[in-house]
Amino acid sequence: MFGVVPKPLWSRRIVPDDRNRIPLAMRCLLIEHPDGLLLIDSGLGNKEDAKFQDIYGISNAGPGGRTLLEAGLAEAGFGPGDVKWVINTHLHFDHAGGNTWVDGAESPDGRVRLTFPNAVYHVQAGDLDYARHPNERTRASYLPHNFEPVAEAGRWNLLQGDGEVFPGVSVQLTPGHVPFHQGVVVRSEDETLFYLADLIPTRHHLPLPWIMGYDVEPLRTLESKRRLVRDALDQGWWLFFEHDPDVVRGRLREGEKGPELVDTVPAPTP
Ligand SMILES: [Zn+2]
Repeated sequence: MFGVVPKPLWSRRIVPDDRNRIPLAMRCLLIEHPDGLLLIDSGLGNKEDAKFQDIYGISNAGPGGRTLLEAGLAEAGFGPGDVKWVINTHLHFDHAGGNTWVDGAESPDGRVRLTFPNAVYHVQAGDLDYARHPNERTRASYLPHNFEPVAEAGRWNLLQGDGEVFPGVSVQLTPGHVPFHQGVVVRSEDETLFYLADLIPTRHHLPLPWIMGYDVEPLRTLESKRRLVRDALDQGWWLFFEHDPDVVRGRLREGEKGPELVDTVPAPTP
């Protein structure tokens, strides 16, 4: 998760287990938009096998064979059928895996279905194309059962670059992790929130050179981060962390050693 940063440095900030794994969240964002319910990213889903779950140390199971995402939706008073739009920042399994699901009881054939049966799903056209043409390095992250069923159902709305998708909700290309990675800018009343996804996955990745080894173009990540940090500082944006285990969001302030995270909102304890 920390690329070229030596372990003696990063392990002071986040302690790995005996298999060298660190705690991470898969934090989706549900927006109660005046025009309908909007979900940003969809987590891992329930389709991966026991071996996969063991490798990554996944705990994502919710009641009734569904996931913690559906449980969280229910807690907010909604069901999967209420979600009108999904935006995927990119199609890696930990961001788009919950787009689809498999119900072992109802479809023992293992048929994969849309998790949000009434939703239109959004992603950059370039990322879908990139996902469909993997190489040896990228293949393990782009699992077709997370995005092809959406295509078969005709539910993709493919985005071309930056722009407003719904009133107050825009996407902004932040390439580097993958070439068409996008962040989501949410404006409400006088405040702006930036959903960072894998541009700055945790608060520990705020320093510019702390870039994941997963990134396919780390020097582009560097420039995407430089621009984002400058804009967030200048405009007082909330930064929303998808993978930080402890902090949901915070703002940046210019500190003595560079930007510091302040006004942090802690993650609820599970
Ligand atoms: Zn990720």
